[in-house]
Parts: sequence; C-alpha cells; structure tokens
Amino acid sequence: MTIRELDVDELFHAALNGNRRALGRLLTLIELGGSAADAIADQSFHRQHGVPVIGITGAPGAGKSTLTGQLLRTLPELGLRPAVIAVDPSSPLTGGAILGDRVRMDDVSGDHGFIRSVATRGHAGGLALSVPGCARLFDSAGYDPVIIETVGVGQVEVDVAGAADTTVVVVTPGWGDAVQANKAGLLEVADLFVINKADREGANDTRRDLELMLDLSHVSGQHQEYRPPIILTTAVDGHGVDHLWEAIVAHRSHLERSGELTRRRQARFRFEVMSRLNDHLSSMVDTITATIDDRSGRSPASLSAELLNSILAPDAGRLR
Ligand code: GDP
Repeated sequence: MTIRELDVDELFHAALNGNRRALGRLLTLIELGGSAADAIADQSFHRQHGVPVIGITGAPGAGKSTLTGQLLRTLPELGLRPAVIAVDPSSPLTGGAILGDRVRMDDVSGDHGFIRSVATRGHAGGLALSVPGCARLFDSAGYDPVIIETVGVGQVEVDVAGAADTTVVVVTPGWGDAVQANKAGLLEVADLFVINKADREGANDTRRDLELMLDLSHVSGQHQEYRPPIILTTAVDGHGVDHLWEAIVAHRSHLERSGELTRRRQARFRFEVMSRLNDHLSSMVDTITATIDDRSGRSPASLSAELLNSILAPDAGRLR
C-alpha cells in the first residue's frame, strides 16, 4: 500500500466519524484527480448507501442558491443531513461574486450540512468526473440528500444536472423565462419545475407557459407517464419550500415504484465509465500524436489507422 493510499484511508475514517476537515480534504483530492482520487472513488463506491441525489438548475439569478440555502435550513429539522455541491461557472467575471455567496451560505450549513463549491476551472469536462465522485463521497460519509446546484446554461451543466435522480429546474416570472429554459434543453431534463420569486408579478403567466410546453411535449411523446409538477416558491422568505420538498419526495417514490431509479442509476454509471474511458483515451491520443508530422509522406487517414491499431493491439508491432 502506498503512502498516498494510507493517507486516503485515514482521511476516510476521520470523515466517516464526522471530521469535516478530513471530508474537505478528500473533496479537494477528488477535484485534483489522479491516483488519490481513484482510491477515494473506490472506497466511496463500496460504502455508498444510494441516498437521493437532487439537481437544482436554472439561469443565473433565478434564486437557486437562496432556495438551496432554505433547504439546508429546513431539511435538518426533518432529521436529514444535506450536502450541497455548488458548481461554479468558470467565468472570471462572475466566479468571484458567486464564490462570495457560497462563503455566506457556508455559515448557514452549520454542523447539519455541508456545502462545497466545485470550480469548472476552464476544463468543464472534468466536472463529469468530479461531481459524481463528490456526490458518492458525501453519500458514503452519511450525508442525505446530496444536492447538486448548477447554472443551466451550457451542455455540461445540463449533463451534470441530468446526472441527478431528481432534477429541479428553477425559472422566474417574466416574459419568456420558461421559453428560455426550454431552449436551453432544460424542459427535457426537468422532473420538477419551480417558479421562484412568486412574490413578483407574472408567476401565473409563467405557470401557464410551462403547462403549455408540457402539453406539447406530451403530444410529442415525452412526459407520457410522468408530468413534472410546477411549484411556486418565494425563496427569500421560504414560502413554498416545504411544498418543493414534498414534491421531491413524491418524485423519489415515483422513481422507485416505476423502476426508473434503477434505470437512471445504471445510465449514470455507464456515463461515468464512458467519461473516464474518454479521459484515458484522450490523454493517450495526445501522447502518441505529440511527435508526428507530415514528413513521413503518410496521409492522415493511413497514419491514424495505424496509430489506432497500435492502441488496440499494442504488442502487434513488436511481434512483427
Ligand atoms: P442564483 O444565481 O440562481 O443562485 O440566484 P440567487 O439565489 O443568488 O438569487 C439572486 C437574487 O434574487 C438575490 O438577490 C436573491 O435575494 C433574489 N431572490 C431569490 N429568491 C427570491 C424570491 O423569491 N423573491 C425575490 N423577490 N427575490 C429573490
């Protein structure tokens, strides 16, 4: 056993016993990737309980952080111990401000919850590995539920949100917000809609827009068996947050009853294996193409076919 693995073992033990610093350190190691991250991934995998994973997504400013903060306050009252993974947009313009919010949110989490910001740091593909890794670590360390909060603006964020058991899409009253969510592909991943800022005018118009779009998607074959409910909330004063939680719990029961939970978790497992494999292959491709040039007189097609063969059957060249 290497020193690294020994460290991970000790940290894991401490984290399971409630040591928050150890848990924070493990989360950092997951983000850094490499062999320590793999060792943590293995341990978490074998110790996970399969707690609910909830994705909360929507445009910047919709009120996701405020809603999440409310859930962090109310869930411990129900005997739960929530963990939040907040995926920061990589934009240097908003990154600082949003990180400031997270620090404030950390205050409300107290001992009954845990918040972790995961930065995209320019290589958004890394999220596909680190977010499920962090979620599984929280699960194995006794947190329940795990909430993944993402800005639903890019494909990667939509993918990450879609990697949850239950995906909550947050929109706000105002002309076209529901339409924007639809365009961003959020309608397809939504298990539940929240119209936040219901204290503002137009919440009912937005509800009507959403209902209409759900009617259309029903006709086109989506949402045949399950129609996402629409919940109105005012996150700043907590209004409707209890309804939101009830709807999340009801969706969870639906997932379990219908067998959809198993199907989703299998799809997620496959997606994770694919992401890891893609990662390995892409660094392999980088390495073997680093020194090639056009002086060999070979066409790109024939050269790439040969290199592919050398990946698939690395010993073939030596045998010849
Ligand atoms: P996020 O970017 O989606 O995480 O949005 P935030 O939670 O940071 O909220 C953006 C702004 O909207 C903040 O100034 C919040 O105080 C405000 N806000 C959040 N929820 C509500 C609400 O229900 N009503 C009103 N009027 N403002 C809200």
